[in-house]
Amino acid sequence: MNRRYAVIGNPVQHSRSPWLHTYFARQTQRPIVYAAYQPAGSFADCASAFFAGGGCGLNITLPYKTDALAFADSASAYARQVAAANVLKRQADGSIRAYNTDGSGFLRDLQRLGATLSDKTILLLGAGGAAQAVAHAINRQQPARLSIYNRTPERAQQLAQQCGGNAIAIADIADERPAEIIINATSASHKQPLSYAPALFHQTQLAYDLSYGTAAQHFLRQAASAGVVQCVDGSGMLAWQAALSFALWEGVLPSVAEAIPHLQSH
Ligand code: NAP
Repeated sequence: MNRRYAVIGNPVQHSRSPWLHTYFARQTQRPIVYAAYQPAGSFADCASAFFAGGGCGLNITLPYKTDALAFADSASAYARQVAAANVLKRQADGSIRAYNTDGSGFLRDLQRLGATLSDKTILLLGAGGAAQAVAHAINRQQPARLSIYNRTPERAQQLAQQCGGNAIAIADIADERPAEIIINATSASHKQPLSYAPALFHQTQLAYDLSYGTAAQHFLRQAASAGVVQCVDGSGMLAWQAALSFALWEGVLPSVAEAIPHLQSH
């Protein structure tokens, strides 16, 4: 019988997770079906009904990642550190365990790009859920400096404090020293893309936008026209966080190489 998986989010109709997991299942010849649910009531009711009906695992997207962590019976150390989960798995004893693969998905994508973070100066724009996952993952790589800038400065300060190490919050983007890697983890581009002074990208080798498709274009175009050679959207991170979810559930890590160009072209 097919094992059942799904993504829960709101909105969820644009999620690429059903396509990715169906692709991974075909590639690895695993008998799974994958659905998408937008809860009519609470997240907990929707997730309970899914697992009670025999579901094996869930991906969780906005705005339910903290609800997912609270729902689980246990969680990985990293999901607890980030205080959010994007993966739930029903274990052999029936209990539900939470994981977060966003940070490791980001690191895997940087590996794919041949980029290293240790001893690099890094500027992270944003301090929301995705920025938190990425900041903790970056900090484990021991950068020379991780500067965090956010519209709401208190959130940047809190995140820098949680990360510790070489993480600092910056209050004014105009004061930021040149960074070798700049990561856009804001969701601003979905509505009103933000503009940055070209000087911000002086000395930047890699500009990475966690968004993908048209949402990433404004930031990446600014970086490219300021002379940044490597400008990359979040399609690779998206594919990797899904592949790592699949590995947690099915015990096999699928290949993402062909999925990434597909995501970029749709
Ligand atoms: P979130 O938790 O809602 O955080 C949004 C962030 O954007 C906050 O830092 C917020 O600042 C900032 N922001 C929003 N509107 C802004 C504006 N007009 N001006 C300045 N800052 C603004 O969202 P999220 O989950 O972190 O997602 C952020 C982005 O990452 C989204 O584009 C999402 O699609 C992408 N993402 C990609 C992946 C992937 O696998 N590639 C995974 C997760 C997320 P305040 O704190 O001031 O509100």
